[in-house]
Amino acid sequence: MSQTKIYEVLQWASLFLEKADREPKVAELLIQHHLGLSRQEWLFALRDPMPEDKQEQITADIKKHAETGIPVQHLTGHEAFYGRSFQVNKNVLIPRPETEELVLAVKEHVGLKSEPVRIADIGTGSGVIAITLALELEHAAVFATDISAEALQVAEQNARQLKADVTFRQGDFLTPLLDEVDPLDVIVSNPPYIATSDIQELSDTVRDFDPELALFAEAEGMAAYYKMIEQMKQMPLKPYTLLAFEIGYTQGKLVKQHIELTFPESHVEIKQDINGKDRIVLATIFS
Ligand code: GLN
Repeated sequence: MSQTKIYEVLQWASLFLEKADREPKVAELLIQHHLGLSRQEWLFALRDPMPEDKQEQITADIKKHAETGIPVQHLTGHEAFYGRSFQVNKNVLIPRPETEELVLAVKEHVGLKSEPVRIADIGTGSGVIAITLALELEHAAVFATDISAEALQVAEQNARQLKADVTFRQGDFLTPLLDEVDPLDVIVSNPPYIATSDIQELSDTVRDFDPELALFAEAEGMAAYYKMIEQMKQMPLKPYTLLAFEIGYTQGKLVKQHIELTFPESHVEIKQDINGKDRIVLATIFS
């Protein structure tokens, strides 16, 4: 009896997912994960026989994903961000590609400076923003906060694994940094920004598996921005402080207005993501 080939399992799994209205690409990611194949090895392995025990595990995961919507990243335990692999689990938001653009915007801004900069990532989750900036920017001292101890465990583990020097502090938004003697140059955050009333618009993959704490905010999704801007008023600021927020695509004007009202001496711009939607607010606060 000839054994099933890897590509045959791929064909079956892709079709199964498509019929269940799921992303067929998940099949490839899951098979690669179970077989321990890199993306380079993948193409050459397609005609190899599929080990039977692996086929069972893959089939079970494909069915689980199709039925429940469990994110492939929870099944594989990791997600790529800015060219690096980060561990994720149910206690952290799965990093999104839009957030890579936030990191790039901060990097471009800070990269122009030759002196050391102090950066804080607020609500760090898996640590992707803080860790990437620490690795990409030589002169940066990076702090990161999160209210969730479970999330900080994931972030600390990622920092260790990727050899990034980040100081993690547990607490609500900027609270653990309010007593910092030296002011920060950059405050960056991808906070929860979905209005609780928008829950029905989310796919089950997001709604049932990303942590609520990472998704939803009061005040039509604006509460986290209000809170951080309020806290900034209590902090010593540098002559120029960069504030970089990821936002929901309808929130740009409101966030801009609120920053300008709180800090009349500021320059605020709204930037779009690759899909042309408002996604980033970049503000320079002069003080
Ligand atoms: N900073 C993390 C990220 O961007 C977590 C964000 C969050 O939990 N809202 O992925």
